[in-house]
Amino acid sequence: MERKEFKAESKRLLEMMVNSIYSQKEIFLRELISNASDAIDKIYYRALSDDSITFNKDDYFIKVTANKEDRTLTVSDTGIGMTKEELESNLGTIAKSGSLAFKTENESKDGHDIIGQFGVGFYSAFMVADKVTVTTKALGEESGYQWESTGADGYTILPIAKESVGTEITLKLKENTEDESYDEFLEEYRLQSIIKKYSDFIRYPIKMDVTKRELKEGTEDEYEDVIEEQTINSMVPIWRKNKNELKDEDYTNFYHEKRYGFDQPLKHIHISVDGAVRYNAILFIPENIPFDYYTKEFEKGLELYSNGVLIMEKCPDLLPDYYSFVKGMVDSEDLSLNISREMLQHDRQLKLIAKNIKNKITSHLKTLLKDEREKFEQFYRSFGRQLKYGVYSDFGANKEDLQDLLLFYSSTEKKMVTLDEYVSRMKEDQPYIYYATGESYARIEKLPQTEMVADKGYEILYFTEDVDEFAIKMLASYKEKEFRSVSSGDLGFEDDEQKDTAADTDEQKELFEHMKTILDGKVKDVRASKRLKSHPVCLTAEGEVSIEMEKVLRAMPDNQNVQAEKVLEINVNHDVFDVLKASFESDKDKVDLYTKLLYNQALLIEGLPVEDPVAFSNDICKVMA
Ligand code: ADP
Repeated sequence: MERKEFKAESKRLLEMMVNSIYSQKEIFLRELISNASDAIDKIYYRALSDDSITFNKDDYFIKVTANKEDRTLTVSDTGIGMTKEELESNLGTIAKSGSLAFKTENESKDGHDIIGQFGVGFYSAFMVADKVTVTTKALGEESGYQWESTGADGYTILPIAKESVGTEITLKLKENTEDESYDEFLEEYRLQSIIKKYSDFIRYPIKMDVTKRELKEGTEDEYEDVIEEQTINSMVPIWRKNKNELKDEDYTNFYHEKRYGFDQPLKHIHISVDGAVRYNAILFIPENIPFDYYTKEFEKGLELYSNGVLIMEKCPDLLPDYYSFVKGMVDSEDLSLNISREMLQHDRQLKLIAKNIKNKITSHLKTLLKDEREKFEQFYRSFGRQLKYGVYSDFGANKEDLQDLLLFYSSTEKKMVTLDEYVSRMKEDQPYIYYATGESYARIEKLPQTEMVADKGYEILYFTEDVDEFAIKMLASYKEKEFRSVSSGDLGFEDDEQKDTAADTDEQKELFEHMKTILDGKVKDVRASKRLKSHPVCLTAEGEVSIEMEKVLRAMPDNQNVQAEKVLEINVNHDVFDVLKASFESDKDKVDLYTKLLYNQALLIEGLPVEDPVAFSNDICKVMA
């Protein structure tokens, strides 16, 4: 018999499971039951499009059986089963589920976090078992197969006779140790309570043989144990229940049972609408960014049910892109069971539901911001970027709705603030809402461009995400106050001290013209700065495209070579300027050298690459020599 090795990454996960110190070992049962339920779903879906398969509800169930003598626990299902190849690829490697890829990026010492955060599915069986045997027969296959593993040493696959289609997973429970007992997973009562806790809403019956004491027939006081097969889960979907009957915990369990996420949901939204369109929905805002959120594989969408029957696993039309992180389900009796995907897109009811859902999410987020600021900020750290995309996308169609949910870091408050908070604090003479862009707060803080605005005592919003400035350009103004970059040509005020000096004299003009020629095409203009106080030089941009936007656009795949119209600003009150002026009269070569140096310095300050670092460093040496 051939023994096969697990793929490397599965092996690591397996080891983590075997040595797990995770306290909630009981979740292994939830994982196995979910898999079983998924396997039945697959037959159900198959039957929807394949007339040769009939789905008779009574034939589909999950059974949990404990055998105390053998110390085994078996979870069997009448689902779709696995072919030999599927056994190999599904249970021989976990690469598919993606959990480990994430784990490697977010290395943690023990397996603790990963189990808490992710459904690791099938492998969790090894938390409680030292041998796992899977016998399975796939729909449409002649033969069945048996997969067996005792953990790290690999697994075997054998053909076996199996009559019915489906899968049976048998766990040989670990021996009890001094501090761990595994016996509890053989106790009827304990098993029932685990099933109730995590799998109550599974829509197929989860059956168990339950021992009952009954009066012996023909006697009056003699009792006997009778074994009776019972369905343990209520199968009543949570969304059909009354909100008052449900606790936070029920929603959290539902979230995990459905595998919407492996974190704790930050907030749930339970909607029951009985109006122009009737539907129930349970939505979740996750706490963390799903590990696959920024991958190609991520698909937004909600589960869609028609009167309790799942018709689509991820219906994308129910969520706008900027709320793509929302998880959950919608059930409506107004939708036809046999509606096709194409028709769904144009369905009027569905459009109404989608609009309604969008508004509910927005209003819940607003409430969260108002009542639970800390939680909202946690949410914002994960998904704030999405809201900004929302402002920007669809030509700003949703900006009114979303603008009050935006937060930016404030130069004066040193924390995240809303636009409303900013505006309500604005000084009387302050004409604009100022912002500065850069790659980090620390870097922006040091930007020469912020000097004069900050000096005036005006608050500045710090933009560190690439989408920030695009979103703000779309907003243009908030409460009739326009946004203005600290780098823009017109800051709306003139510094009193600089009024006289800043007016370009003829002499200055000549010098700046000359410098512009030296920089040949690199800048649109060289001029005296109205925003610098102590710094000698900075770069700003004129027109619609800022320097930060140029950086973002440059990094995009369809780089259109959009360039900011750069202006080199010189602080005419700085000593450097006197040196420039003096050289302009006596030594033009020096002007050439200094201009290039200043320009390159300005690039560095902006976080832009110096075009020719060698020339730059040679220029510095020239100054030193
Ligand atoms: P996940 O469920 O997250 O994909 P698992 O490790 O739990 O990860 O399972 C891996 C795969 O094995 C499943 O996606 C499924 O294809 C298959 N599988 C597991 N259990 C069963 C089962 N009872 N019946 C059929 N297929 C199953």
